[in-house]
Amino acid sequence: MPIGTNVEGKMAAALRRLGFDKVFDTNMGADLTIVEEANELVQRIKNGGTLPMITSCSPGWVKFAELYYPDLLGHLSTCKSPQQMAGAVFKTFYAEKNGIDPKDIFSVSIMPCTAKKFECGRDDQSASGYPDVDVALTTRELSRMIMRAGLKFTALPDEDFDDPLGDDTGAAVIFGATGGVMEAACRTANAWLNGANEPLELKAVRGTAGIKETTVVVGGQELKLCVASGISNAKIVMDKLRAGNPEGWGFIEIMCCPGGCVNGGGQPIQPQYIRDTVDLKAVRAKALYDQDAAMTLRMSHESKAMKMLYSEWFDGYGGPKAHHALHTSYVAREKFKK
Ligand code: SF4
Repeated sequence: MPIGTNVEGKMAAALRRLGFDKVFDTNMGADLTIVEEANELVQRIKNGGTLPMITSCSPGWVKFAELYYPDLLGHLSTCKSPQQMAGAVFKTFYAEKNGIDPKDIFSVSIMPCTAKKFECGRDDQSASGYPDVDVALTTRELSRMIMRAGLKFTALPDEDFDDPLGDDTGAAVIFGATGGVMEAACRTANAWLNGANEPLELKAVRGTAGIKETTVVVGGQELKLCVASGISNAKIVMDKLRAGNPEGWGFIEIMCCPGGCVNGGGQPIQPQYIRDTVDLKAVRAKALYDQDAAMTLRMSHESKAMKMLYSEWFDGYGGPKAHHALHTSYVAREKFKK
């Protein structure tokens, strides 16, 4: 299939044929991450909290920060990643609503990422008392499982994700591209603080450049934004922050992989002759932005799943129940040890 083809419907079909009882969309976890992160940003701006706030959804980046910038960990958002938030919701909200003991749920995430395997074993990632996510498989591993099972992927029908957590927004979709998390969080912050009804289009932070900057006005205040992808670029940004933040950034997005998760270490490996001629990061990101542009709901707080979760389960954005299930903490690590 052409690079950049949206195969989520076939992936849901394949997972059911591999034996999974329920197949949910991690985009729901991305919407949840955005509303919690946008709320955290708004609170930090209003209450004089630590700024710039830095995104925390890339476990490769988080571990790099724990190893090399332990003095700056207070800048990281305390939000768990979409993988972990989704897992926490399955074993708390979904388990209780469906009368299932969370110990009987085995939750497997499909990710473009090898660092997600490490993330699901981190401390402080077990809202129900059991690990939020039991196993993370890469998209590359899933493709091998599909082939081993003898499924003809291209012939599978497109199937929907399971409800009630199968709903998502364009903001969640663009999470996979560098700049997407920043744009998604600013859409919701802009709606909450500036009363905007239309999604903010942050074109200055799209594209595959290693470091991108722009400025937005949020709540009557100018907010300087910086987006970095790839660890060498993360180092440039963090060294500037350690030197006193001369650029005056207020919000920073950092992704470990160059180009973001579309170019994650767990993605299918393309042969050299394709990598020489196709900009995989750009083609895959374009597929996400095209999908976002075609969606009716493009701001995370508008999602039906978010409205249901916050009316039936969580006690408000960043409330005690949400904080327990959806937020985490970081540790200064000794270099070259686990
Ligand atoms: S940027 Fe890379 S390490 Fe970070 S979550 Fe995405 S795939 Fe994983």
